Formats: sequence, structure tokens, C-alpha cells
Amino acid sequence: RTADVRAEKIPRYVRVNSTCWSTEEAVKTFISRGYRLSNPFEEKGFAKDEHIRDLLLFPPDTQFSDDPLYHEGKIILQDKASCFPAYVLAPPAHDRAVVIDATAAPGNKTSHLCALMGNKGKLFAFERDRKRFGTLKTMLARARCTNVEPVNADFMTTSPADARFAAVTHILLDPSCSGSGIVNRLDYLVESEADDGNEERLQKLASFQLLMIRHAMKFPAVQRIAYSTCSVHATENEHVVREALRTDECAAGKFRLAPRDMVLPAWPRRGLPAETDAPDDAESLVRCSPGEDATNGFFVSLFVRESLVPEAAD
Ligand code: SAM
Repeated sequence: RTADVRAEKIPRYVRVNSTCWSTEEAVKTFISRGYRLSNPFEEKGFAKDEHIRDLLLFPPDTQFSDDPLYHEGKIILQDKASCFPAYVLAPPAHDRAVVIDATAAPGNKTSHLCALMGNKGKLFAFERDRKRFGTLKTMLARARCTNVEPVNADFMTTSPADARFAAVTHILLDPSCSGSGIVNRLDYLVESEADDGNEERLQKLASFQLLMIRHAMKFPAVQRIAYSTCSVHATENEHVVREALRTDECAAGKFRLAPRDMVLPAWPRRGLPAETDAPDDAESLVRCSPGEDATNGFFVSLFVRESLVPEAAD
């Protein structure tokens, strides 16, 4: 793999792990190291992100992998777009909260969910791959997540009728995908196979992604399901959402797409209208375009239980 020129335009994103300390404390620490709150494209400049709370932007070539703050779990090196799913899911932050991260390793979104939950309640984090499960546990310990129960199992084999999951209201689904949105920065851990846009492979991934959404919709108390990929292909994004909306779970009025005002309304790049059944569906979806949005390529959608969506005013 060779370095991608688009990487030069992507700031080094740093998520302040609010489970450990506050963004104000982090900002003071960076200022004491000689950084200025200004612009991440100036030397020693940094900035707060305009969309995601607790996200800071540094110059693209800044290295944090040897920084004690990273090793202590106080900062998480996480691309902006990959912060969208947990943020859009907006899990509750109280002692009775029960949330699932269905596809958790390496665990950046899990620790983000934990932070948004104020480290309260219970967060089940499923990961079926044994080795990646080890990475997940290391990462969660470093991020000091104490409300997470990691489970080395296939999410598809979990029974929605299990009493442990009876109160699950929020599910994050970030399943394996082609990884076609990932901009190679050389220092990124790229775990997906190289994407060659092979339609047969994409179809296989899409079938599995749809099964995962349909399984999540079977949990009796679930109110919100965030589905995301780091792919730029409509096959894994709009088409999977379109198929999910055509299933009985949605046709029977149980679930629908959340309206734009619940899904990062200020983010301008939305789904591709030509790939959805209705123009409003595209408005509900979020896309990130590598090279144009200063992020990796990404896709986010939010399904909500029908009874929770406020009626649109005439
Ligand atoms: N959400 C993670 C993060 O932000 O760090 C990245 C998730 S990665 C795209 C997908 C992960 O889901 C992989 O580690 C894969 O092994 C796991 N996975 C795929 N299918 C699964 C399943 N059916 N049950 C549990 N884990 C699964």
C-alpha cells in the first residue's frame, strides 16, 4: 500500500475520553505543551470539532501513538466519521440503560458509547473473532470502561428472547464491510482486505449486513439501531437500508428511518437519492466522502421504532 494524498487534508482527530477527564482539561494540557487553539493546518494549531463534542483536530502529521495520554486511555485516536454512529445513536446515560454494540472490536465506538453513557448502566459488546476480542478487552481496560461486558460471540447467535437483553433499547451495528472508504495513511491499522469493488463480494457483504439489521430489530425493547459502514459503495449503504425498509419489520410499521433532524442535521452530505426508494430517505442518511470532507469515507443511518418518531407537521 502507498500513502494516499487525501490523507494530507485529514486532520489528526483526537477524541477526548470523557470517561477519564474533560475536554476543558485536555485543551489546557495541550496549550501547556505549546499548542494554540486556532487551526489544525497551522503549525502547533489545534481546534475543537464543530459537529462532535469532545473531538479535537490537530495537524495531519501529528503523532500521538507514543504519547502517555494515548497509553493512559485519556485520548482515543479516532477518525471524525467513525465518531458519528455512537453520537447519532445517543445512548441513555443512567443506571438502568442497557445498550448493545453488536460488532465491537477494536472498540473505538464501544468506548465512545461508554463515554456517552457516562460509564453507567450496561453495555454488551459482542465480537466474534477471538484475536480481535483480545484487542477489544485491552482497549476497554485502557479506556477505563467499567460498564461494558465484552462477549466473545457471534451477535447472530444471541437470542433476543434472552432475559439479559430484555431491556436493551439501543443497538450499534458497525459490521464488517469492504472498507472502501478508508484513506490509507500508512500509520492506520487497515484490517480489511483491499477493496476491488467486486460486485459479487459486495453482495455477500450486503446480505450479511441486512441479516444483522433484521436480527437487531427482533430485540423486544429496542428503540434505536444505528447502522454504519466505512464503505463508499451504495450496495453496502443505501441498498442495505432500502432492503431493510422493505422487510416485514419495517413494512408492518415497527421501524422506520429517523428523520434528518435526529441524524446530524448540520452535516451537509446526505445519502444518494438515486439509490433510495424515497427522497426523504436520502435526507435521513449521512455520508462522508474521502477527499471532500476531511474524513474517511463513511455511511451512517438510524432506524427508530415507529412509535418514537414525531409526526411531521403539515
Ligand atoms: N465498531 C468497531 C470500532 O469502531 O472499533 C469496528 C467494527 S469492524 C468494522 C467489524 C467487527 O465486527 C470485526 O471485528 C468483526 O470481527 C466483527 N463481527 C463481524 N460479524 C460479527 C458478528 N456476527 N458478531 C460479532 N462480531 C462480528
